[in-house]
Amino acid sequence: MVEGLKTYKALFISDLHLHPDDKRLGELFDRFLKWATENTESLYILGDFFHAWAGDDATDAWSASIARQIKRLTQAGVACYFMPGNRDFLIGDHFSALAGWTLLPDPCVQQFGEHRVLLTHGDRYCTRDVKHQCFRRLTRGWWFRQAFLKLSLQRRQTWVNQLRRYRQLHHTQEAAYRKDVTQQAVSKDCARYHVQTVIHGHTHRPMCVQSSGSQGVYKRYVLSDWDDTPTILGYNTTLDEPFYMGDLSCHD
Ligand code: MN
Repeated sequence: MVEGLKTYKALFISDLHLHPDDKRLGELFDRFLKWATENTESLYILGDFFHAWAGDDATDAWSASIARQIKRLTQAGVACYFMPGNRDFLIGDHFSALAGWTLLPDPCVQQFGEHRVLLTHGDRYCTRDVKHQCFRRLTRGWWFRQAFLKLSLQRRQTWVNQLRRYRQLHHTQEAAYRKDVTQQAVSKDCARYHVQTVIHGHTHRPMCVQSSGSQGVYKRYVLSDWDDTPTILGYNTTLDEPFYMGDLSCHD
């Protein structure tokens, strides 16, 4: 398709939690990519693309095949951007080169037409979850990355798997409240980065929230996970409201 005639200038997805055992999800993602190739000029993946990532040296036949799928998308002319989430923050330059995507820092501001938009995975706003914020501060630093990646791959994989089990065990309603974002944290970032639009994932609660703050009205788009039919956010300049959320045609 000729560039410029595609329906979407950009699509935003997150929280696929791709895992080699989940064949249904793999097929859904494959169908999405085929559809995205024809229908968007760019794709933004805002973290937790993989269910777990112990380091780029853990790339196996399965994850290499995912990288090839992304690479095909970029070779077909779709610009692809990836921002790491709390599960795959160890994705680095090696895997990114395989996938052909551009790594984005969390958070970062991108311009879409007249809209200045803050993109983030979203866990930075879960300020009620004190343990996670400690974990986040500990693990996201440069030195942690250097030290952790020096451990044997086996040790890293054991650690990553233990962490995943701990999170599954502690998933309760109270935890769901604690793990949601706080409006104060979002508003603070909106003022700091001079934006009125935020796009994030992480909480798996797809919605568009409007709120007022010192800069005016803020709009926050929350992306869904991919457990069922994903809710996808598209940027389509022909619409009155160019950021459109819906289950686009990635399913039959
Ligand atoms: Mn997350």
